Amino acid sequence: MHAISWEQLCRPRKEGCVGLRPLLEIREASALKLAWRFISGGSLWADWMHIRYVKQGNFWTCSPDNNHSVTFKTVLRHKGVLKSAIRRTMKDGSGTDLWRDPWIDRRSLLDIRGSPTHMEDRRGLTCSRILRDGEWRPESYRYTEELGGFIMSTVIDPALPADRWIWEPPGASSGSGEFQFRSCYNLIRNTFPLSSDYEFVWCKGLARKMQLCVYKLLLGRLLTRDRLSSFGVPVPDPKCVLCCLEPESIKHIFFECTLAWQIWLEQSRVLGLYTSGKYIGDIIPVIRDSRGRGQDWFRTARIRLAASVWHVWRERNRRIFEGLVTPPVGILHNIEFDVNAMENG
Ligand SMILES: [Zn+2]
Repeated sequence: MHAISWEQLCRPRKEGCVGLRPLLEIREASALKLAWRFISGGSLWADWMHIRYVKQGNFWTCSPDNNHSVTFKTVLRHKGVLKSAIRRTMKDGSGTDLWRDPWIDRRSLLDIRGSPTHMEDRRGLTCSRILRDGEWRPESYRYTEELGGFIMSTVIDPALPADRWIWEPPGASSGSGEFQFRSCYNLIRNTFPLSSDYEFVWCKGLARKMQLCVYKLLLGRLLTRDRLSSFGVPVPDPKCVLCCLEPESIKHIFFECTLAWQIWLEQSRVLGLYTSGKYIGDIIPVIRDSRGRGQDWFRTARIRLAASVWHVWRERNRRIFEGLVTPPVGILHNIEFDVNAMENG
């Protein structure tokens, strides 16, 4: 996989890549999970950490100091990202600090209104002050219509045992409100546009070697003779070893080349498909447009396309590196064998 950068390999499959997860990002997501466990409470560890480090104060206004453990400093360091991924749902407001907890559209009243006056900031002031009988009554605390709108968007659920945090990162589908590693991971990484071709690479049942071959082909990273020449690698004969007529390039070998095209025509016949294009970039849209024939057909078409690509590439390598030649009928037989194994595997 030396032909593809590490950063690209680490993007998810739906974004057209391999979907590896770099350790640095896994470490960040794990730290965020720790911070979530801390604010969610309900465990001996979270209670002990709260008593030991937060004491009578508020976690959201707590700053790291030398007396804090490494673990608690890690939790504090992820406070900002955590705030962007959670929402508060109220039972009666009695468990939520009115000024400091980020319960208003992921922000605290302190964030929106600035520091409270001495009269406004009495110790232990909770949201129950402005929540009565299951309804918001926010007509105090420097009330504005805009602030009122934000407050009204905070959900009240009297059936809850207590006020609670909901895990709801932006863009994630609303779930149970419990922490999800996948959405957490998506929150901290850079995202890229979705790839429409990923389903032709990561098709269920497709052999890994074929997946990677199609993947490299779609990225234009297979080391054909024209690319080797451009890297300064000496190539005595630039011609395609399959037809010995044209210079070898990715575009030629899949499926402009007469031998490769002959193989794909047979697959098209079996699939009942008409493709006039002679490049994988032309063939993929034709298969995608025909997916209305059913999931089974669509899967078979993707498997046949990938098997054709891999066997053409294998034949090319065998001719160059081993001096062995398989006739088209033999390649078609091998493709048929692999397709049957993958379809039934
Ligand atoms: Zn050729």
